[in-house]
Amino acid sequence: MSQPGTYQNLHLQYIAGEWRPGRSGRTLEDRSPYDQQLLATIPMASREDLDDAYARAAQAQLAWAATGPAERSAVLLRAVAIFDHRRDEIVDWLIRESGSTRIKAGIEWASARAITLEAASFPGRVQGRILPSGIAGKESRVYRKPLGVVGIISPWNFPMHLTQRSLAPALAVGNAAVVKPASDTPVTGGLLLARIFEEAGLPPGVLSVVVGAGSEIGDALVEHPVPALISFTGSTEVGRGIGRIASGGEHLKHVALELGGNGPFVVLADADLEQAAHAAAVGKFLHIGQICMAINRIIVEQPVYERFIELFVDRVSKLPVGDPSLPDTVIGPVISAKQLEGLQKKIAQAKADGARVLLEAPAKGQVLPPHVFADVRPDSELFRNEIFGPLVGISAARDEEHALELANATEYGLSSAVFTGSLERGAWFAQRLRAGMTHVNDIPVNDEANAPFGGEKNSGIGRFNGDWAIEEFTTDHWISVQRVPRAYPF
Ligand code: NAP
Ligand code: MG
Repeated sequence: MSQPGTYQNLHLQYIAGEWRPGRSGRTLEDRSPYDQQLLATIPMASREDLDDAYARAAQAQLAWAATGPAERSAVLLRAVAIFDHRRDEIVDWLIRESGSTRIKAGIEWASARAITLEAASFPGRVQGRILPSGIAGKESRVYRKPLGVVGIISPWNFPMHLTQRSLAPALAVGNAAVVKPASDTPVTGGLLLARIFEEAGLPPGVLSVVVGAGSEIGDALVEHPVPALISFTGSTEVGRGIGRIASGGEHLKHVALELGGNGPFVVLADADLEQAAHAAAVGKFLHIGQICMAINRIIVEQPVYERFIELFVDRVSKLPVGDPSLPDTVIGPVISAKQLEGLQKKIAQAKADGARVLLEAPAKGQVLPPHVFADVRPDSELFRNEIFGPLVGISAARDEEHALELANATEYGLSSAVFTGSLERGAWFAQRLRAGMTHVNDIPVNDEANAPFGGEKNSGIGRFNGDWAIEEFTTDHWISVQRVPRAYPF
């Protein structure tokens, strides 16, 4: 298979410090979702491969954790330099493999680079504590240590960033990692990152990337005795299962779960409607809504409802649709035929539920143009469930309280947004939303390497980025030192 650029032989996996084919006897065909071009044929990993990866990681982690902070930072900083040097190749891979538009691929490259740079500061930021002790002659110390080996499972939508935002912090604070990328994006979700870290000088075995179906090696990856933490990003359904297996009784591992969302975008009557409509179009249709933080429901106060709809539909109807590699394309392909089929069902259901159709057009190949529905009722499927595609429903709220009630009427609580002419009104509205993240007068799609990223309710457990990632990927060890013989009671 000829692959352009530096990244050749991506049918091989990085397992236990060497590049080799998976040994399951089954292969995965990695194809471009836009034109079905075959990008790589990858022999998939077996359980034995997974065992090798974990065994080597457990061994390599000890030496890696013992390296000084400057040494670990240097590896991450070299990875940042490689991100810069190989930007075009990485962006092209994101376009080809994940159907990212050029705009989205650029954003993803920048996010993955940013968390790598942020993580380069982590080795020197891990802090222990000295606590006062009530016992004579005792010193009470709390050491902050790496967890050991971390298992990382990531999705296909922002494959490189969503792997890297677990991987870079985990490595920075002294863990080893075994990554399982999504089967739709084995290269951008894992193998390219292995190349980058290898080139950056990460010692062999500290990172393995195993490519295999979640349904086949997923349980083994989670149940394996070696990993102390399973960091999973994906659907709520799979995440629940992982939580059950990893920390449901038999195994008592740490879990970090970043799951689905049903993000509300609320427009209050005093909002700048032009800006709100612009933000709504971006917050919904960036990567055709295949983002956990994407707008899922637009909720508009009654007095400005029809005017907002007019402005929004006007913008959305002009979004360029088609080839994701062209510089201006906004609406590229859906990741897979299976995902497209699910979206077609949601469209049919929205109509059956009586929503007013404002925009629709048939799919060409896997490219589904934007679908916009109004008068979406809170009991309808479009309102209740995560969409993860270029469809959106708009619902009217009687007033601010009703808008709040509608926004909170979901089992999810990831990101959210509110538009208003008063920042304090927005901040107060935001405080009453049950969500991990809320943005006033902006899109809900925001991820900054130093700000806490995560969800409430069924959107997950834990936080990424900055100090929160340092905490997530380390654990406390209380060590006391008794300087003088202690007086015991018997
Ligand atoms: P998914 O089906 O849950 O898959 C995510 C990952 O889990 C993939 O690597 C998948 O492998 C693996 N997997 C599947 N079944 C498994 C099992 N039984 N055990 C272990 N791993 C298993 O999700 P998706 O369809 O790829 O992604 C879309 C969903 O992810 C959406 O619901 C979205 O909201 C959510 N998401 C959340 C965030 C966030 O930060 N909160 C970010 C992005 C996406 P295979 O590909 O081999 O099946
Ligand atoms: Mg593919």
